[in-house]
Amino acid sequence: MEKQHLHYDVVIIGGGPAGLTAGIYAGRARLKAVLFERALLGGLATYTNEIVNYPGFPEGTTGLELMHLFEAQARHFGLEIKNTPVKAVNLTGDDKTIETFRTVYHAKSVIIATGGKPRLLGVPGESDYLYDKGISFCATCDAAQCVGKTVVVIGSGDAAVEEALFLTKFADKVIMSVLHEEGHMDANAVAQEEALANPKMEFHWNTVVDHFEGSERLQRVVLRNTKKNELEVIDADRCFYFIGYLPATEMFKGQINLTDRGYIPTDPHMRTNVDGVFAAGDVRQTCLRQVATAVGDGATAGYEVERYVAEMHIFEKQLMQKEKPGLVFVYSAIDEASRELLPMVQEIEQHYDGRVKLSLVDTYKSVCLSARLGAAQPPSFVFTKDGQVVARSIQTDRTSIMRVLDGLVAEPVTA
Ligand code: FAD
Repeated sequence: MEKQHLHYDVVIIGGGPAGLTAGIYAGRARLKAVLFERALLGGLATYTNEIVNYPGFPEGTTGLELMHLFEAQARHFGLEIKNTPVKAVNLTGDDKTIETFRTVYHAKSVIIATGGKPRLLGVPGESDYLYDKGISFCATCDAAQCVGKTVVVIGSGDAAVEEALFLTKFADKVIMSVLHEEGHMDANAVAQEEALANPKMEFHWNTVVDHFEGSERLQRVVLRNTKKNELEVIDADRCFYFIGYLPATEMFKGQINLTDRGYIPTDPHMRTNVDGVFAAGDVRQTCLRQVATAVGDGATAGYEVERYVAEMHIFEKQLMQKEKPGLVFVYSAIDEASRELLPMVQEIEQHYDGRVKLSLVDTYKSVCLSARLGAAQPPSFVFTKDGQVVARSIQTDRTSIMRVLDGLVAEPVTA
């Protein structure tokens, strides 16, 4: 079946806090924007029952509630949201393509906000019991099925301990497998204290998962005590992993720079190494992965995309116009040498009496535009003809500039 083709200013991949916030900014800027989410809108934030550290909610809120508010706000500002996975992308050039099952979306810019997915252990039996067969990554989603049962939790960081405490409200016993020596966990001190004092919680120190056993569903989690090298068999039909996440960047490999661990490095403007491609949230190489940081990234990416699309419009319609030869003065408003040349540049324009189009690009305000022109440090000049850059010059004297322009205009004008 032939795929349909649709055109947008910006495509946002991922509907977690970062993507939805970018969508709010892009929508408010009246960009034609579409967001794709392959699973539950709201992303990882919907996995957690309690969010107490997101500003504005002194009593705390649930991830689902918070994400419903994000979604409503994004829709209010005109963001289109599609519940479908992005299958492939081509991020090169000005016409970027993003493919879903039925459609090829063409976009001037792309915001990658794909977050991550749970890290797996890779032990025997694991792949047989993932998700609805016993190994879970979401206490909020699956806690209700644990009423009166024994469950195992793997990990000892903030998420592991906090979610284990949440599980004690449902399960009879929550067994934590901790890699470290007795009394040592990676979680914050308050959560550790609360967990150690909870009568429903039991700790198996110095343990790792050896393998999983069961039939159709998980029945036993077999731990290995790394100190004694002994196996500890636990009868449990639910095991929760809270051992970190892997960035969802497989699809972008070979197209943008990634770190060794697969995260996307960006500059403070959320720009990747590819023009027009931005990244935000957990998928980015960053020091903290939270809703608040994802929101900050999303806001920056949404704002920067607006600038990028506006500059792209100026580039195509103004700088690369085809009606007459163009002289682009690349200057910096904060540079004295640049400012002194402005009157001379205007005199040159008058000299050609409407046969040359003069444009000014302030590199202080329009970094992308001067990069797109391939311009040298300001002050410098770029010459265009028939919508193409035909010459660049760092010579700033009138004679050098007019020599090039004389060659470009159909009938040279003598001074
Ligand atoms: P995500 O939330 O991961 O969203 C990315 C989205 O992209 C996902 O929905 C995914 O389905 C989608 N996606 C990926 N690939 C594609 C594709 N090809 N096509 C379409 N869609 C795609 N943070 C806090 O601030 N406070 C807390 O209390 C807190 N508790 C947490 C508890 C748990 C158990 C977990 C797991 C996380 C918790 N966090 C908390 C962290 C917080 O949820 C994340 O930092 C935040 O959700 C990151 O947002 P994001 O938008 O970058 O990525």
